[in-house]
Amino acid sequence: MKRIGHWINNRPFSGSADRSGNVYDPATGRVTAEVTFATVDEIDLAVAAAKQAFPGWRDASLNGRQKILFSYRELVDRHQQDLAGLLSAEQGKTIADALGEVNRGLEVIEFATNIAHLLKGDHSENVSTAVDTYTLRQPLGVTAGITPFNFPGLVPMWMYPIAIACGNTFVLKPSEKDPSVAMLLAELFAEAGLPDGVFNVIQGDKTAVDRLLEHPDVAAISFVGSTPVARYVYETGTRNGKRVQALAGAKNHMVVLPDADMDLAADSAVSAAYGSAGERCMAISVVVTVGDAADKLLPRLLERIRALKIGPGMDSDSEMGPLITKEHRDRVASYVASGIEEGAEALTDGRDFSVPGHEDGFFFGATLLDHVTTNMTVYTDEIFGPVLSVVRVDTYQDAIGLINENRWGNGTAIFTNDGGAARKFQNEIEVGMVGINVPIPVPLGFYSFGGWKDSIFGDHAIYGPEGVHFYTRPKVVISRWPEPIHRGVDLGFPQHR
Ligand code: NAD
Repeated sequence: MKRIGHWINNRPFSGSADRSGNVYDPATGRVTAEVTFATVDEIDLAVAAAKQAFPGWRDASLNGRQKILFSYRELVDRHQQDLAGLLSAEQGKTIADALGEVNRGLEVIEFATNIAHLLKGDHSENVSTAVDTYTLRQPLGVTAGITPFNFPGLVPMWMYPIAIACGNTFVLKPSEKDPSVAMLLAELFAEAGLPDGVFNVIQGDKTAVDRLLEHPDVAAISFVGSTPVARYVYETGTRNGKRVQALAGAKNHMVVLPDADMDLAADSAVSAAYGSAGERCMAISVVVTVGDAADKLLPRLLERIRALKIGPGMDSDSEMGPLITKEHRDRVASYVASGIEEGAEALTDGRDFSVPGHEDGFFFGATLLDHVTTNMTVYTDEIFGPVLSVVRVDTYQDAIGLINENRWGNGTAIFTNDGGAARKFQNEIEVGMVGINVPIPVPLGFYSFGGWKDSIFGDHAIYGPEGVHFYTRPKVVISRWPEPIHRGVDLGFPQHR
């Protein structure tokens, strides 16, 4: 049995393996590896390696740091297929989807290769006689990332390339469900010339997270995962004096107005609801049809859903793969059952779906529930599976009200040909990322990603310019050099003359 351990000081580190977890191939349901869970001492070892590496890395020239990031970019680019293969084997998503994930991660690495521009400070000459003021942005020290199972490549890449480019060192704790991609990403960074201890990976569960949250040498924590854990990480980390950004769960609504291009809306809803088997924080899980839009949209949705090819992620024909675990599949099935019990109409029902030859795989068919109302659990909870709910409302204003009342605010979209309606939507909607005739509005690496409300805890969105601000702190310097003017002791507050 393959055993997956940690990565400390640019080397694999097997660890004590007192506790471990199973890693599955979701397409077959078979255990493919065992992942070691780090003990507190092993986490301390990784943090100590990062702490020791920090002064040297912080003081390395900007140009030197960027050169390593350029080499890293080339290596990740060259290993896209290997990364996508590992990702698909443990996460279950299709190879095409996995390649897309690696590509979106590359964008962040590319952004980080040019970090020097964003680390520039301001400079004001002669703020007082012969006195200048300027600002610096300095790294924090040891930073840590805790990441979810659904993007085992991309979400870590939202964090560590920027943290490291800014001069920090990093300890990553990936999801225990698909731990291998992080190991290859770390190995490639070592090959790119990253000094020992700058990037470390520790495998584990709550024990590892809790130790990182209390460790006195960890300055900042980036977390991405479900809302209850994000809230816990934010509250515990900040209580322990750390800077924390915690991105959380979602319920993303797509509004379809009666004037929308219905073919575009149907293509977009099906792609965004069932891509990655709905295991995306930006997946569309609710379509809100306004007026008679449902009559035109629903037949188009059904036509597309029936044509979907669901199968092992490794098969090039598959458009949608399995869910991550059997427990998760059962949980999704129980949501569909309660939705139907509460009065929703299942236009398609994925509960009995299976793939011939892969009966033990964690597959779930694409499910479409009509006449969903806001009091049903399929609406109130994040399902995180291939289940799309249709909520019918009478007016545009009802649609806005519904979304604004929802506890989450990660992403949303409107489909319409009315520019005025779209502009009003972008202005009034209480959601962090908005698509206009675009179903999954994930910004590129040079913008930042982040929701509102219960989809984020903390003040900083992730990657892009907000990432640079998160991983650095400002310092202001007031300096006087030539011909100092001695005015003697003055206990008054400094004033500019
Ligand atoms: P999760 O919250 O279960 O796990 C995330 C991380 O936290 C993992 O590394 C896990 O080991 C750790 N963890 C789990 N339970 C913990 C506990 N009780 N205490 C401390 N640590 C714990 O999330 P998941 O199931 O891996 O991922 C799916 C969730 O992530 C969904 O809710 C999805 O919406 C969310 N997500 C959000 C974004 C975003 O940007 N907002 C992006 C991707 C995923």
